[in-house]
Amino acid sequence: MGSPRPNPWVNSLAPYIPGQSRVDGLERVAKLSANESPLGPSPAAREAVATASGMLHVYPDPDAGALREAIAAHHGLDPARVVCGAGSDDLLHLIAQAYAGPGDQIVHSRYGFAMYPILAHMAGATSVQVENRNWAADVDGILAAVTEKTRIVFLDNPNNPTGAYLPASELERLAAGLPESCLLVYDAAYAESADAADYTDGARLAHEAGNVFMTRTFSKTYGLAALRIGWGYGNTETVEVINRIRMPFNTAMPAQAAAAAALADQAFLGEVREFTIRWRRWLTDELRAAGLEVVDSQTNFVLMRFPRKPGATAEEANRYLAARGFLLRWLPGQGLEDCLRLTIGTEEQNRAVLTHLREFLAGAPRAAASRG
Ligand SMILES: *Cc1c(COP(=O)(O)O)cnc(C)c1O
Repeated sequence: MGSPRPNPWVNSLAPYIPGQSRVDGLERVAKLSANESPLGPSPAAREAVATASGMLHVYPDPDAGALREAIAAHHGLDPARVVCGAGSDDLLHLIAQAYAGPGDQIVHSRYGFAMYPILAHMAGATSVQVENRNWAADVDGILAAVTEKTRIVFLDNPNNPTGAYLPASELERLAAGLPESCLLVYDAAYAESADAADYTDGARLAHEAGNVFMTRTFSKTYGLAALRIGWGYGNTETVEVINRIRMPFNTAMPAQAAAAAALADQAFLGEVREFTIRWRRWLTDELRAAGLEVVDSQTNFVLMRFPRKPGATAEEANRYLAARGFLLRWLPGQGLEDCLRLTIGTEEQNRAVLTHLREFLAGAPRAAASRG
C-alpha cells in the first residue's frame, strides 16, 4: 500500500521561475523581465489570429504543413526536416525526453538558458554546468566536460541571460569536437536580433552536420510569445524521433497562421530588428556612462553588473526599480547576484529606466531609506 508515486527524480525538480509581471500596489508596470518584444507582432499576424477565430472548433493541422513549408522556403531548408513546437521550449523538452534519461548527462553553460537544468532533471538526467568564457559559452570547457554519458549539449547562441555570442567558427569547432553519440542542440532564440558579421543562426550546420539540431522561436523578435510557437531543424532521424513523441496537435491553429503571416512580413521584422539594435546600443552606452559594467549584447536585452557595495547592489537596484514600476530580471539562482537583465522596451521605457538607474546610483542609500 501507499500513495501513487512519481518517478523519483520528479520530487527534486525546481520549477522554472518566469519573469516578474506584477508589483503590489501598482496598476501599471513595465515588464522588462521576459525578453518580450515592445513592438508586438506584425499587424498581419494579428489579422491572421482574428481570421482564425472563426475556426476554433476545428483541430489544427497536426503537422503544421503550411507553416513548415513557409519556414523552409524562407530559410532555404527542407520542409520535411522542419518540426514545429509549442514554443521552442516544447522542442527542447522533447529532445531531452527522447535522448536523455537516468544516468545520462546534459552539458550546458552555467550562464545559459535557465530551462536547461530543469529539462535535464525532468528527464531524470544530470545537468553538467560549464563556466562561461567572456560571458559566452566556452567551447573548450564544454568539450572537456563531455563524457561517454553525455547525450546532449545545449548551446544558446546568443546566450541568455548574458547576451554574448560565439562566432560561427566556434560553433563549428564544437560540433566537430563532439562524439557522434552526442547531440548538439543549437538554441538560436535571438538569431533575428543578432547583427555580428561572424554570427550564424546555425541553419547551414543543422542542414549539413548529422549531430546538430537547431531551435528557433516566434516568441522574441517576431513578438508572438503568447501563442507558443517555435520550430526546430535537424537530420531526418532526429526530426522523426521528435515527431514520434510529440503530441499530435502540439501547435494551435491560430499560432500556425500567425507565425506564417509574421514570417511573410519581413519588412516588419526588419523594423523590429533595427529598433532592437539601435536601443541596445543606446542602453549599452548610457549604462556604461552611468558607471555600470554592461555585456556586449546580440539580443533584445542587456545584462549589467552592479558593484557589491551596500546601497548600490543589483538586488537593491532591482527593488528600487520595481517600486517605480520597472520589472527587470535578477538572477541570483544562476550565480549572477550582482547582475540585472534588462529587456529592451519602448523608447519611453528605456529612457525612464535609465533615469531611475542614474538616480539610484547617485543616491541609492538615502533615496531607498527615505521611501521606507
Ligand atoms: C525565450 C527562450 C527560449 C524559449 O522560447 P519559446 O517561447 O519557448 O519559443 C529558448 N531559448 C532561449 C535561450 C530563450 O531565451
